Amino acid sequence: MNITVFGTGYVGLVQGAVLSEVGHNVICVDVDAKKVEGLKNGVIPIYEPGLEPIVKSNFEAGRLNFTTDAKSAVEHANVLFIAVGTPPDEDGSADLKYVLAVAETIATHMTREAVIVTKSTVPVGTADKVKARVQQTLDGAGKSLDYHVVSNPEFLKEGAAVNDCMRPDRIIIGTDSELAEKRLRKLYAPFNRNHDRVIVMDIRSAELTKYAANCMLATKISFMNEMANLAERFGADIENVRKGIGSDPRIGYHFIYPGCGYGGSCFPKDVQALVRSANQVGYNASILEAVEAVNYRQKEKLFSYINAHFNGELAGKTVALWGLSFKPNTDDMREASSRVLMEQLWAAGAKVQAFDPEAMEETQRIYGSRDDLILCGTKEAALNDADMLVICTEWKTFRVPDFDLLKNKLSSAVIFDGRNLFEPEEMAERGFAYYAIGRGLSV
Ligand code: NAD
Repeated sequence: MNITVFGTGYVGLVQGAVLSEVGHNVICVDVDAKKVEGLKNGVIPIYEPGLEPIVKSNFEAGRLNFTTDAKSAVEHANVLFIAVGTPPDEDGSADLKYVLAVAETIATHMTREAVIVTKSTVPVGTADKVKARVQQTLDGAGKSLDYHVVSNPEFLKEGAAVNDCMRPDRIIIGTDSELAEKRLRKLYAPFNRNHDRVIVMDIRSAELTKYAANCMLATKISFMNEMANLAERFGADIENVRKGIGSDPRIGYHFIYPGCGYGGSCFPKDVQALVRSANQVGYNASILEAVEAVNYRQKEKLFSYINAHFNGELAGKTVALWGLSFKPNTDDMREASSRVLMEQLWAAGAKVQAFDPEAMEETQRIYGSRDDLILCGTKEAALNDADMLVICTEWKTFRVPDFDLLKNKLSSAVIFDGRNLFEPEEMAERGFAYYAIGRGLSV
């Protein structure tokens, strides 16, 4: 099938590449000419495991193309995906300007019937706004064409996005159009062979499903962080508690890890957006407000530990920081806990020597060059002349460090671990002061 995808970010690029991998003819459109030019030359703008080879091979095979030319891209297909960003507006609600701009672009260039599929995460009711914008644009141009607006939210996880798109847990199709359902079922058939993963529903439910999923996941994290903070105060160990509750199949072991807060481009923004949408319909989403508040506090936790350990004397200290991305296997720094920590450390006069396997360039892009940030080529180099080690992201490479080296290099044998990578007893035996989340030491 011929498919067009607007937006070549984490969602659009991965979906476009995966759809071409199974044989569809895909054009990805972006307004960012530099990105498009790079993609045509094999430069993948994001780090996502397994993405580069499929982008390159399908581009070479002519099944995947990149353009800034919306007109030719719209003419190419009768299924048009909107996968552009929906960043938070000033008040936290989702900003729909990019989504609606694409709707207008599509209508401007449409010359035949089309299925317009919103993949971006958008508040309930957005499909109506997309329809209105398309209709208005068609009317303005004196065109009368059939079109069907579908909500098909994306559930990929950054760091595992290619695999998630290749083997989706579910494919939600929110539509009131039989034609659109049939066309999307055909499009997704290659991903739907083992058992039926397609769930068809009304558009509003589909839009809400995406928010409900992300808010549930964020809730699990904030809940565990709340339990971790209680465990510290009660002298309990949250890791024992985690195993204890996870063994109940109604709770399960997935996604109940305590830590130094959730980040990324989705959970913070989607929780906020649903809180604002709830307010607009006269409902106070108290659980979600608490989820957000707990997370905000949790992101400051490592700094509280560090500040207390050093009695507030952080000026002139050097912090070795392992992990910058908001989670492993991505270079995404959006809302990363490391950013909150670094900014607090800098405000307190400390210097950060950081290492991350993938997110160094992104960190450089965000913060530019500054005297109190040194990006190091290896995790060992980050330890040079450092006073402490802090871990913000659970990359695999941090799991079994050379503890003797750590002890030799750090001026004080202290580790602040935001991801509970080590065992407190072992750390004590090795002579480290060890601060983890919900595992004994508290502030
Ligand atoms: P992103 O910021 O990485 O990429 C968005 C892209 O859209 C950019 O390249 C931008 O240049 C492009 N763009 C903006 N306006 C455009 C236009 N008019 N025409 C063509 N391209 C345009 O965003 P993302 O992380 O891929 O997220 C996209 C959407 O998917 C968001 O709504 C997000 O909430 C949702 N989502 C994201 C994830 C994730 O893990 N990143 C997962 C599921 C859903």
